[in-house]
Amino acid sequence: MRLLPPQARISGEIFFAADAGEASNLAALHDEAIRKLRGSRMAMIFQEPMTALNPVMRVGDQIAEAVVAHNSISKHDAWQRAVEAMNDVAIPDAARRARDYPHQLSGGMRQRIVIAMAIVNRPQLLIADEPTTALDVTIQEQILELLAQLRIKFGLAMLFISHDLAVVSQVADRVAVMYAGSLVELGSKRDVFRQPAHPYTRGLLHAVPNLRTDRGRPLQTIEGTVPALQAMPTGCAFEPRCEFRIPECAQDFPPLLQVSSGHWARCPVVNSLLTQQNSNLPAS
Ligand code: SF4
Repeated sequence: MRLLPPQARISGEIFFAADAGEASNLAALHDEAIRKLRGSRMAMIFQEPMTALNPVMRVGDQIAEAVVAHNSISKHDAWQRAVEAMNDVAIPDAARRARDYPHQLSGGMRQRIVIAMAIVNRPQLLIADEPTTALDVTIQEQILELLAQLRIKFGLAMLFISHDLAVVSQVADRVAVMYAGSLVELGSKRDVFRQPAHPYTRGLLHAVPNLRTDRGRPLQTIEGTVPALQAMPTGCAFEPRCEFRIPECAQDFPPLLQVSSGHWARCPVVNSLLTQQNSNLPAS
């Protein structure tokens, strides 16, 4: 979304094809071009709806403002579009609630307003950054259900960012695991949850209690902490905490390697262990 402060450094490429046109690299687009895409072709839902909304502006006006920013449209029509978007996110009595201020709505309703703002211009990509973290479990379930319905109704691609593995297992088709700012594993939900290949993913999954967890023992944890950005190890960033590490791990930054079709992990050590295991299996 290119919302980082000017002193932030980004590298790499992010390709996005707006309206099925030619894909462009978002990381290299000039500011005006990215402004046109942001809020229209790609939109974002933030974690804490109260800070994402203007407390002194009616919620209907805030949604209408997003419409006016990207369309030549009268204020009256923009307001109508805002009310329609509130209907889309299942806010009852939307025409009346559009006149409310954020503090007059519950946390779940405020998050629905933020979602309405995001979808009002019918984006292709919706980025949801921990959209349910600030909500209680019942409302969280309702918001996840709503997002699933909107994905289908509007043909949305969704990039869902979360530290909650239970939520990820519920919403994702493909999962990308990040550690210290780098992608360490990428694959289908099934592959990542059933056959995690990176030691960090394995550690995360082992730390989640399930029905078979022995309640008499302490929960498994990953020893140590994430390295500070100004003191990143030269080699694998997970090396100081990794039970599989070998001396070479501290030397070179590991590449992403294919574990199986569509499943990638940034760990040559586990990759070669898995390759050996597979080659020892009897041919079927
Ligand atoms: S590269 Fe080495 S240190 Fe890094 S995750 Fe793999 S085994 Fe562990």
